[in-house]
Amino acid sequence: MSASPHTVHVAVHTPAHSAVGELLSYASDRALAPGTLVRVPLGRRQLLGMVWDAPAMPSPMPQGVELRPIASVLEGIDPLAPAWRRLVGFAAYYYQRSIGEIAITALPPQLRDLTAEQLARRLRPPSPARPSRSRAASGVPAAEPDAPADASPVELSAEQADVFAQIAAHAGPFLLYGSTGSGKTEVYLRAVQAVLDADPQAQALVMVPEINLTPQLEERFTARFAQQHGKAAVVSMHSGMTPAQRLKSWLAAHTGAARIVLGTRMSVFASMPGLALIVVDEEHDASYKQQEGARYSARDLAIWRARDAGAKVVLGSATPSLESWHASRPPAGDDPQGGRYLRLHMPSRIGAASLPRVRLVDMTQQPRGAVFSPPLIQAITERVQRGEQSLVLLNRRGFAPVLWCADCGWKSDCPHCSAHQVFHKADRTLRCHHCGFTQRVPLACPGCGNPDILPLGKGTEQLEEELARLLRNVQRPDREPARVARIDADTTRAKGALEEQLAQVHAGDIDVLVGTQMVAKGHDFRRITLVAAVQPDGALFSSDYRAPERLFCLLMQAAGRAGRDARYVAAQDSRPEMWIQTHDPQHAVYTALRGHDYPAFAARQLQERREAGLPPFAYQAMVRADARSQQEAQAFLQAAAQAARDAGLPHLDEVFLYPPIPMAVQRVANVERAQMLIESAQRPALLRFLWAWQGHLHWIRARPEHRTLVRWLVDVDPLAI
Ligand code: ADP
Ligand code: ZN
Ligand code: ZN
Repeated sequence: MSASPHTVHVAVHTPAHSAVGELLSYASDRALAPGTLVRVPLGRRQLLGMVWDAPAMPSPMPQGVELRPIASVLEGIDPLAPAWRRLVGFAAYYYQRSIGEIAITALPPQLRDLTAEQLARRLRPPSPARPSRSRAASGVPAAEPDAPADASPVELSAEQADVFAQIAAHAGPFLLYGSTGSGKTEVYLRAVQAVLDADPQAQALVMVPEINLTPQLEERFTARFAQQHGKAAVVSMHSGMTPAQRLKSWLAAHTGAARIVLGTRMSVFASMPGLALIVVDEEHDASYKQQEGARYSARDLAIWRARDAGAKVVLGSATPSLESWHASRPPAGDDPQGGRYLRLHMPSRIGAASLPRVRLVDMTQQPRGAVFSPPLIQAITERVQRGEQSLVLLNRRGFAPVLWCADCGWKSDCPHCSAHQVFHKADRTLRCHHCGFTQRVPLACPGCGNPDILPLGKGTEQLEEELARLLRNVQRPDREPARVARIDADTTRAKGALEEQLAQVHAGDIDVLVGTQMVAKGHDFRRITLVAAVQPDGALFSSDYRAPERLFCLLMQAAGRAGRDARYVAAQDSRPEMWIQTHDPQHAVYTALRGHDYPAFAARQLQERREAGLPPFAYQAMVRADARSQQEAQAFLQAAAQAARDAGLPHLDEVFLYPPIPMAVQRVANVERAQMLIESAQRPALLRFLWAWQGHLHWIRARPEHRTLVRWLVDVDPLAI
């Protein structure tokens, strides 16, 4: 056997080795640069791993133990750059995960799954028989005859030009606070253009919250940049792509062939050696926060990554997160520093389209039990008759959230969760939206046999049905009957279904669209002049302190769907409207909304958060425990807190450990869930405390009395409490 003189430290992702920052040691017969992808044996398996920098204090090898050699090196893929590894290292530290987990899950799955031979085949350069591809791959810019042309970019408005100049002149980070339709995307396009023009190696990363927004964006970016940089210069990255597509995009970004990466939160980990600009569109959106595994915030990592890489970063939103709003506060008398971000403002909509008028319907003055108030139905009717479109929002899919027996009080509870099963009329099922458990609707009450079980409350299915009934005699200008359609997670399950339904809306085939928040975001509907939120009040009574922020955001975004096309609106004789049916029209959320006054809303919320010591004025982490019983789950958390005190962990006096409590939905799929909130006024103190604590959590988990624990996890900067 030949000697293997080099010891390499390899990051792998395996649950068995998920304890803090673990690197495994292997032997190699040649030196391997950090960032090199390798396959290594572990037990009887072979895993993808990445050579990592040697730990500061390598653990001494026990006598007589020989290192196993690495199995193979993934030839043909350059090592991941130091900047990329720094990002992974930071994310692992910040979100309390292992380096191996973050590094390996950030790579396209095919790197894990393909054999070395299969991979080599993928990496082979395209054959010269297909000239258009090899041209793109070689990085030679050339016009693509079949690329959609957008050769003449529009002239920037004064506001856009000013913002663009500021981005060029300052280091950032920037918060671009611009109304819906103010032309933020055009600013992103120009900022990307400037970066690509300045340096032939430069790359830009543009992130959007939802997969279904990427095709629109891709179209716009390809149209703008294909002429100059070739079609292959723009790639997408999101979980809806096939494994082969993901590998292709990843390699294009990694080699620098792709100049622009468009993607969802996962793209924040794209390997981009020339990264010079990151755009985070709709930065307030909750989907930037990963909700399983490593619970990272792609927005926050984007800020870190940009600063570390010397790149610019632009966060954009019409309703920024309160964190970003606070971080971009201008200097003031008692706060001469101001925030770390530079706030840029674009208040006007392009083409002078005005923001919709907000109309609050006081539901205490309307017929009891009506889902649609008569004035709202009247307004929708007039729209249909004029050939305009309306959008009706309800954040609850299904027909009714619960079935109920008036005789014995039976309710359609999920047997596995502390939640109701939702009644879906279309296929006559009861479905739990937490665990997925599905049953046929019973013919009679399972409790007492009463055949009259009733739907309680409303879902989108019911709204669709009710609207169709209320509008059954209403005609469009072409004398056709009004057409009502629904878009939610139920109607869009099939691949391509959403695109098809959206196309129908765009084509004007639909007069009234009923939907969940899915349709409130981003879509550029041309002919919608009325948006209605029928039952938004629920969020005001939530125990989650972020609920008002989320509601305000959603309603502002939804309002932004109305009247986006100034020319279209100008041709109509009515101003676009946003209708809100509420039992509390004086509520501050609604009065701010009526004035389209995000700053007033934000100031008030921030004031409340400051007084209550909540983020962004404090830093939080959540430890969660899942077990067979609530008692076991809480016992684990209690033991963890006790261990922290007994061990006198660093910064213990600067963090506050709240007592464990059940989660809002306490039981899901027969697992009881408990949580414990950790709070500190100092972020570094919180992080160091958590890091020191992690080992204890692993040890406590291993104790016999906690062996029935299902799992535990830490969520840093949790979004929902
Ligand atoms: P936002 O991203 O802020 O919602 P968009 O960038 O999508 O807004 O712009 C809204 C609409 O205005 C789009 O149809 C876009 O093509 C158009 N637009 C943007 N900037 C200009 C401009 N400077 N001149 C003319 N039209 C513009
Ligand atoms: Zn009954
Ligand atoms: Zn369930």
